[in-house]
Amino acid sequence: MLSYQHAYHAGNFADVHKHLTLYAVIEHLLRKKTAITYVDTHAGRGLYPLNAQETQRLQEYREGIWPLWQAHTGLNDTLLSAWKAVLTSAQSSPASLTHYPGSPWWLSHSLREQDRLTLFELHPGEHEQLSTQGLPPHAKRVFGDGLAGLKAMLPAPSPRLCVLIDPSYERKAEYQEVADTVVYTLEKARHGVVLIWYPLLPVGHHYTLLSNLAESGIRKIWRSELLLRESGEQAHGMFGSGMLVINPPWGLDNRLAAAMAEITPLLGADSRYQSDWWVGE
Ligand code: SAM
Repeated sequence: MLSYQHAYHAGNFADVHKHLTLYAVIEHLLRKKTAITYVDTHAGRGLYPLNAQETQRLQEYREGIWPLWQAHTGLNDTLLSAWKAVLTSAQSSPASLTHYPGSPWWLSHSLREQDRLTLFELHPGEHEQLSTQGLPPHAKRVFGDGLAGLKAMLPAPSPRLCVLIDPSYERKAEYQEVADTVVYTLEKARHGVVLIWYPLLPVGHHYTLLSNLAESGIRKIWRSELLLRESGEQAHGMFGSGMLVINPPWGLDNRLAAAMAEITPLLGADSRYQSDWWVGE
């Protein structure tokens, strides 16, 4: 039984971290003409009106996309400005932030004729909403389990593969299931670019994912973390957002570090960014 709905969290700091990283990866992949197969294993509903009842309940976007949007004129970083320009194109009017686009939108936005995108979603209501989104014809929406679906698609039909794995981690077992799926994926597509999002929670369950991947033999696993605050004894709830990028494009670390240097001061005095090779070459 799935209860998580991303609308409650749309546009939060973790979304900014995740979608900016995704955007930077895609932008790099698009430099070559060769076809790309994109897979989004946990797609959500696609586009989130910020005035929706669910989003208004927690208003997490106020600690995420909102301060960045307001800092419209002060952003010097090239990656960040390009990302914001795309974000602006998702709005009903360029002057106001009314919607926050989810991963299906970021992925389909850059889809070229030769590329293919598959969006898996297991929640019937979320899948139904995703089905109403106006996406390009070669963006395929599948109602089903994204991890099993990804495995069934391998080896990928095109030479290049880019996968986003962004579960809700409602079950602790998901950390292990994600690790197993990633190992399988890299066995079938050694050069595939795989992005995995994970929450930083005081309980530290994400170490199951990280340690399994470290022991798997997979090389080139880059880790990027955006922290809103430190995990102290009083900390509760998600204090940071983590991303692993396997086979990251060259220069991704520096591009994101520069963008994050502009973002973190906007997210509060305790916010900070860190990145390193979780497993090197
Ligand atoms: N990737 C989305 C984005 O960036 O906009 C957000 C995804 S949200 C964190 C996780 C989504 O995964 C939820 O919509 C949930 O219903 C869905 N989900 C949970 N388990 C799933 C599974 N096994 N396969 C596919 N989707 C699943």
